[in-house]
Amino acid sequence: MRKLIAGNWKMHGSLADNEALLSAITAGLPPAPGADVAVCVPAPYLAQVQALLHATPVAWGAQDVSAHERGAYTGEVSAAMLRDFGCRYVIVGHSERRQYHGETDEIVARKAQRALAAGITPIVCVGETEAQREHGDTELVVKRQLAAVIHAVGHCVTEIVVAYEPVWAIGTGRTATPEQAQAVHAVLRAQLRAAAPGERRVRILYGGSMNAANAAALLAQPDIDGGLIGSASLKAGDFLSIIAAAA
Ligand code: 13P
Repeated sequence: MRKLIAGNWKMHGSLADNEALLSAITAGLPPAPGADVAVCVPAPYLAQVQALLHATPVAWGAQDVSAHERGAYTGEVSAAMLRDFGCRYVIVGHSERRQYHGETDEIVARKAQRALAAGITPIVCVGETEAQREHGDTELVVKRQLAAVIHAVGHCVTEIVVAYEPVWAIGTGRTATPEQAQAVHAVLRAQLRAAAPGERRVRILYGGSMNAANAAALLAQPDIDGGLIGSASLKAGDFLSIIAAAA
């Protein structure tokens, strides 16, 4: 299956920086890249990114979506609004949102449902903290996080993308080893297979300090189907190297 390399810009960018970054990325890509490529950008830049990328092989998406369909929810952005701007993907349940915005498994599951209902692929993030890993709770935590989404979306689980992002590896330069990541991906794979037996393979991305130097070894693991890239997605050369490693 084709791998997916998705950038998560987080709260970075400006009109000028985005244009420079995206023109360097699109100029450096082969016309038919060997992997699917996407960038998940801050919501105010969706119109700009749509205009810059609509005729390129690079898809785009957002970093969050409301759990509500519409209404009096000041500051929120609905899935239908993301659809208006051509988003193919939206990240839901990133650990930064779980941690700083109190998003529970149930809220994350509702966000995934909203995205699917609008025809947008949710990239559902799961991952344990360092303390949870030290207590031997990694499997328990990621399975609980994914189970909430599986319960909410039912047979549509085949339409999601999962991203395993160990919290201790995000923005720290401490990547999970390929073996550590593969072990968790195998657990998630088994859970997805049990939820949708015989269905097509759901992509499971790895995220957390993935970079040009470690991408190839991570992407060579049997259950790692791509990457969700933070800081390295802000440098065209690094992002292109990761894409090349996935092809
Ligand atoms: P870094 O690649 O900067 O560690 O961030 C990973 C991440 O959180 C992607 O969603």
